[in-house]
Amino acid sequence: MADRARITIIGAGVGGYPAAIRAARLGAEVTLIEKDALGGTCLNRGCIPAKSLLQSAAVVRTMKEAGTFGVTCKGFDVDFGAVMARKDLVVARLARGVGALLKAKKVNVIRGTASFVDPRTVQIRESGETVRGDAVLIASGSKPERIPIEGIDGPDVLDSSQVLAMSALPKSAVIVGGGVIGVEFAQFLSAMGTEITILERMPGLVPGTDREIAAVLQKQIAAAGVTVVTGAAVTGIARRGPENLVTFSAGDRTGTVSAEKVLLSVGRKPDLSLLGLDRVGVRHESGAIVVDEFMETNVPGIYAAGDVVGGLMLAHLASAQGECAVRNILGRREALNDKAVPSCIYTNPEAASVGLTEEAARERGEVRIGRFPFRANGKAVILDETEGLVKIVSDAAAGEVLGVHIVGPHATDLIAEAVLGIRRRMTAADFSRAIHPHPTLAEAIMEAAMAVSDGAIHMS
Ligand code: FAD
Ligand code: NAD
Repeated sequence: MADRARITIIGAGVGGYPAAIRAARLGAEVTLIEKDALGGTCLNRGCIPAKSLLQSAAVVRTMKEAGTFGVTCKGFDVDFGAVMARKDLVVARLARGVGALLKAKKVNVIRGTASFVDPRTVQIRESGETVRGDAVLIASGSKPERIPIEGIDGPDVLDSSQVLAMSALPKSAVIVGGGVIGVEFAQFLSAMGTEITILERMPGLVPGTDREIAAVLQKQIAAAGVTVVTGAAVTGIARRGPENLVTFSAGDRTGTVSAEKVLLSVGRKPDLSLLGLDRVGVRHESGAIVVDEFMETNVPGIYAAGDVVGGLMLAHLASAQGECAVRNILGRREALNDKAVPSCIYTNPEAASVGLTEEAARERGEVRIGRFPFRANGKAVILDETEGLVKIVSDAAAGEVLGVHIVGPHATDLIAEAVLGIRRRMTAADFSRAIHPHPTLAEAIMEAAMAVSDGAIHMS
């Protein structure tokens, strides 16, 4: 390598741009190539706009429930255009921040589409310019999955990016796929006033989530007025006048639901389409780039991070992988520690998990389970948000906490404590002896940990 290592990064999403900043901080000369907007999916078409919209939904709830707190609210209106405009402002503000950070770190940002010429050189399609470095990090992300059914290309069938760009609120919508995007969008649109039906192929919403936690979430989503049909695989979509008729099969019966719009949220797939990977022989399996624990591909000097490597497609994991990759490029031998990757769902109530589900932990050996319901937590009663619980799964013999699962108020913030605890291999006793501030929601974690060992205080 030259005196200053030169790193080329393809994709300025959360897999690519934090890696660029980290590499620059570590002294590298960095070129970051982006064909679209800085910040990628998460900032422009994913986490940030979606959560901004969910915040507007939370304000609607607060207005409706104000009477509980002794505050009388004499009618209110929701201006869908203003809700969407505020979301755009949030995105623009954060995008400006990303641009400023990259500039401050003297990262050379090139706008265009990169594809490999050889293992050290990429070419920008639009300009023909070539960029040569000592190593390349691929962080090209993912795109929405499609399913091969009739009617999928109809004008009213929208993916998540199109939903986030809608200019008018539909009267009704069918959401195909009750995974994370499906439930978050259902909650937002339903709070705005759209009549929502979710069709999910599996027996319950958000498959992969601890079943007890998912059941509470599903019950609350249904209680908020969303129609949920599970065990329903969508098989076709047909136009019927101004409506779309969505057909599904559920066991040996078929059913139909009609709606103004159909939202498709059946997963995402890594985006390898424009990279020219075959020219350099980078191995990919089932559509995802294969990397080792140092984030290096089979071609020395070519690394990959984020959604493009498949597995859990989460913003914080993408960033951790990208930073891990550049540290390794710069000679620090550091394997990715992904033992404790939190997964969060920003619905009402929120859900968040880290570590093993109860089902997965039981397959490995004997476990002890501790639960604590939010209805017995002082802060949750103050907030009038008492649905849900904290559930801790620990190893029966050593007491090590293997998984923490929360459904309830601010679950997505609360989970950070559990991430640290699981990463540091703490026991339930460690969690329960740590003095938690009062009155806080975090006390529910402490009490669930007590329930694993010698019993919670505020539960008989
Ligand atoms: P991306 O963010 O997709 O970035 C890849 C970038 O590479 C893109 O900007 C693309 O234009 C660019 N690119 C691709 N090919 C080339 C090329 N050949 N040349 C130049 N540039 C190229 N995750 C969470 O953790 N929390 C959430 O709350 C959350 N909410 C989400 C909500 C929605 C609606 C969606 C769709 C996703 C959400 N995610 C969330 C997932 C999260 O957005 C992704 O995991 C994350 O964006 C992955 O980052 P990445 O950098 O790997 O890919
Ligand atoms: P997902 O994998 O979470 O859910 C897709 C759902 O569609 C599954 O439940 C699947 O069973 C269902 N499905 C598939 N085919 C179907 C059919 N024919 N009929 C009915 N149901 C069908 O994917 P997603 O919700 O599209 O999200 C994509 C990615 O974005 C995920 O990897 C997720 O991690 C990420 N994301 C994360 C967050 C967050 O962290 N809060 C939010 C949104 C998206």
